[in-house]
Amino acid sequence: MTTDCLFCRIVAGDIPATVVHETATTLAFRDINPVAPTHVLVVPRSHYENAAALAAGEPATAADLLTSASAIAEAEGLDGYRLVFNTGADAGQTVFHAHLHVIGGTTMGWPA
Ligand code: C5P
Repeated sequence: MTTDCLFCRIVAGDIPATVVHETATTLAFRDINPVAPTHVLVVPRSHYENAAALAAGEPATAADLLTSASAIAEAEGLDGYRLVFNTGADAGQTVFHAHLHVIGGTTMGWPA
């Protein structure tokens, strides 16, 4: 854990969040600024700057994020959903603790 990381502090319970799912390696909570009826963030309990660093350092946990996302989508009754890892500032990443956006509950177009 790094004390200056927002998501580390949520994982530690120091900052409140609406938790919807958790495993030994992951925590999932509702995004405070949702872009769709369902917008959940799945984060590893360990600190990695982004998804690429997580996949290199803890590949099993990277897979756990996807398994958690599937469980959340089922629990939320989503017909379809979008999974997003913003990776790097150019992609719009603002919190530099790896996190998977699970977005659904509405009809989405593509390109995003
Ligand atoms: O991918 P990106 O880094 O932009 O996503 C960060 C997400 O974290 C944003 O969607 C933002 O709304 C969310 N957030 C949150 N709780 C906070 C701070 C940010 O859910 N306390």
